[in-house]
Amino acid sequence: MKNIFVPFGSTDRIIKTSAIQYFHQAEIKDEFGKYIGLLGKKVLISGGTKALRSIENPLITSLEKSEIDWEKIPFHGECCSENISVIGDKIEETKPDVMVGIGGGKSLDTAKAAASATQIPIVCIPTIAATCAAVTPVSILYSREGAFKQILYLPASPNLVMVDTSVIAKAPKEYLVSGIFDALAKWYEGRAIFSTIKEPDTFTIAALKLAQLLNQQMEEKAIKAIESVMVRKAADQVRDVIDLNIYVTGMIQGLGFFTLRGGAAHPVHNGLTVLKESHHLLHGDKVGYGILIQQFLENRPMNEIERIVSFFRALGLHPSLKGLGIPSNRKAIQKIAEKACIDEDMRKMPFPVTEEMVISAINRLEELAEGT
Ligand SMILES: [Zn+2]
Repeated sequence: MKNIFVPFGSTDRIIKTSAIQYFHQAEIKDEFGKYIGLLGKKVLISGGTKALRSIENPLITSLEKSEIDWEKIPFHGECCSENISVIGDKIEETKPDVMVGIGGGKSLDTAKAAASATQIPIVCIPTIAATCAAVTPVSILYSREGAFKQILYLPASPNLVMVDTSVIAKAPKEYLVSGIFDALAKWYEGRAIFSTIKEPDTFTIAALKLAQLLNQQMEEKAIKAIESVMVRKAADQVRDVIDLNIYVTGMIQGLGFFTLRGGAAHPVHNGLTVLKESHHLLHGDKVGYGILIQQFLENRPMNEIERIVSFFRALGLHPSLKGLGIPSNRKAIQKIAEKACIDEDMRKMPFPVTEEMVISAINRLEELAEGT
């Protein structure tokens, strides 16, 4: 397959918010075929083994009920150009009308990129709510080994996203928790960057207001949602938190795409990744830690920081290097700070952030969380 990088949407200031159609309902998995059939009668399905296991049977039954031909291609590993080409080649060979991506961020990003490159519609069926990948018009491209390479800007958001609450409520709770921290970063990072914009446009203001609403909703509902998922129940709060993690986060990203990017939480996340002991942690857990470091960098009042720390603890984060199982010696902290400070996003903070400031923030959080 050729041209996977060329025909994608550019970074021109075209606003693309969230999925064209988004459908979220418990037990919708038995009706997937009915809605996919509106886009075409022949589909190519791609997903990882675990993701497929969680919905493959009802999906295939519903496709056959709607007289839709299907083929399947397994997904393994990263969203990398090799994997995108494997799916793209299969599309060119089998000529489906529609691509159906299943699973988490990497699988969905790969399916979205292959569908865009071959110009067929894409249906995303997320089986976890750890990221907003299901609804966004971007794919994050890694090397085959898992190192970040670039963002692929796709020409449009996915045509249809179908979410089944009961499927996501049965996935390990860690994914939902990770998605909550990544979603909350939209508020904490967005608020910091917003303060640097002299005359924010309508979309930027809308993105920040939506991020503020997301934060309020999370404070109200996230703990209950996690408790409910722990007993594999799809309560109303689970539905709401899934929508916040997937759709609302994607919408904020789209509205603020050209203006609200940056902050300290993600650079600190990237700093943690230089230590191999952080590799087992999910993206959102490292971002959650980064949000707390950002509060110290911003010199937020101590009682406010303590309140966020206890909220994050209640969500299941151990908000210290020790608690996360990451080395907390001077050399390790220096490495984290170095990597965080060379990050482009860190430069968008309202003030220059130095390595000394990050080191001090890390030590202060360590003291607060560990009581040392
Ligand atoms: Zn993130």
